[in-house]
Amino acid sequence: MASYTPLDEIPKIHAELRETFRSGITKPIAWRRHQLHQLARLAQENADEIADCLYKDLGRPKQESIFADICTTIELSLLAASKLEEWTTHGEPPVQPWQQSWKPRVEKHPKGVGLIIAPWNFPVSTALQPVYGAIAAGCCAAIKPSELTPHSAAFLAKTIPKYLEPSAYKVILGAVPEITKALELKWDHIFYTGNGRVGRIVSAAAAKHLTPVTLELGGKSPVLVDSTADLDLTAKRVLWGKVVNAGQICVAPDYILAEKDVVPQLVNALKKHGQDFYPNGALTSDSFGKIVSDAHFKRLTELLQRTKGKVVFGGQSDEKTRGIEPTVVVVEEGDVLLEDEIFGPILPVLAVESVDAALHYLKDRDYPLVLYGFSNSDANKQKILDATTSGAVAFGDTIQHLSIHGAPFGGVGESGHGSQSLQYTFDAFSYMRPVVDIPFQDEQFFGARYPPYTEKSLEF
Ligand code: NAD
Repeated sequence: MASYTPLDEIPKIHAELRETFRSGITKPIAWRRHQLHQLARLAQENADEIADCLYKDLGRPKQESIFADICTTIELSLLAASKLEEWTTHGEPPVQPWQQSWKPRVEKHPKGVGLIIAPWNFPVSTALQPVYGAIAAGCCAAIKPSELTPHSAAFLAKTIPKYLEPSAYKVILGAVPEITKALELKWDHIFYTGNGRVGRIVSAAAAKHLTPVTLELGGKSPVLVDSTADLDLTAKRVLWGKVVNAGQICVAPDYILAEKDVVPQLVNALKKHGQDFYPNGALTSDSFGKIVSDAHFKRLTELLQRTKGKVVFGGQSDEKTRGIEPTVVVVEEGDVLLEDEIFGPILPVLAVESVDAALHYLKDRDYPLVLYGFSNSDANKQKILDATTSGAVAFGDTIQHLSIHGAPFGGVGESGHGSQSLQYTFDAFSYMRPVVDIPFQDEQFFGARYPPYTEKSLEF
């Protein structure tokens, strides 16, 4: 396994990136486009190796790696390359007629040198997707993958310098000491994806340098199900959202709030689809991933021991392979499964009296990354929209909203701030610089502004 970056190397990496940025090589559009094509090539030419690393790190089925990490990285890098001119076109602020000669415009410039900190659950795509934004914006970047997925991290460290300009994009390998060292330095933007506890550490470190931060965090994304929903499809689509990457996805449906009349039917449908997805059991299925580490396996199995709810599907686990079956638990309010983000294949179902009761339940809770609703009632959908705050709202399906790449993806409150996806990622690494060029000939307009001030200078 690749060794961690020596601590004394980290300031040197930072200094070299800054030097590269100052040289100006990252700014020409043609250079950026070439790097973006190279990023797409990186994902395409190494698809098998990426899938292999993700299998070793997370037991992830190849199909999930192809959809979630490989295809999206290729598609988004190529789309970004095709949009560079559009994104970098100067804006034209509205002006008064007498200001037109100033050629006013709003230019988009690269912030400089970014630090990208990625988590373990999608260790390749959460590292590379901010990179396409940094490249598109004309920034340099250091990329710090998660230490919990060492095969993916080593792959990135080995491959990024082969495909991207090595003086502009560098990987820092390591754990808390290495990232702590990196956070002492002054970056021009920090793009952090992970949990809120570390998000606070990152924000505090960034504040010392007034560095802007994007925080892509997680949280408990609820699913509201009312009695008008197609319960069979609701169960299928929610369960799918819970089993992708074994539930270790920031937009996984965390728990269900269902109108109490439909709970028995919904639970039966969840069981049926669980059996259909894994006819010979999930633990031995090659269509179902594993839990990333012993610590996370212990956390999740302890949750299953501590819940007072009724396990109605699944519940088995295998310590040797770190597998946990998709597990549906019918719970009461106050259950341990309703406390923190589950981030695993456990799905609590809480019966509520009504949609209003579900909204009341959410009222004082943290704002989630996404709120899911399953309903055939437009009035209920509108009520849900009006009464809640969340990073996104998706009715009728889970996770699929991420395929709208032109929409911003990000949280609000505890689920983070700032956003990403195509132009939004470009914007994160850019700043807007208004430019004017006021002709000397326009001096005639400015007579009144100069001292000494007289009664006459107030005449306008
Ligand atoms: P993690 O433990 O791998 O941490 C993320 C990064 O933070 C790693 O690179 C790690 O080295 C670094 N880190 C850990 N401790 C640190 C410390 N003390 N100081 C500085 N850096 C530190 O991953 P995680 O946080 O467990 O990831 C899972 C979380 O990420 C979940 O909450 C999930 O919802 C969220 N997530 C959000 C998104 C999104 O786009 N919104 C995407 C994926 C995951």
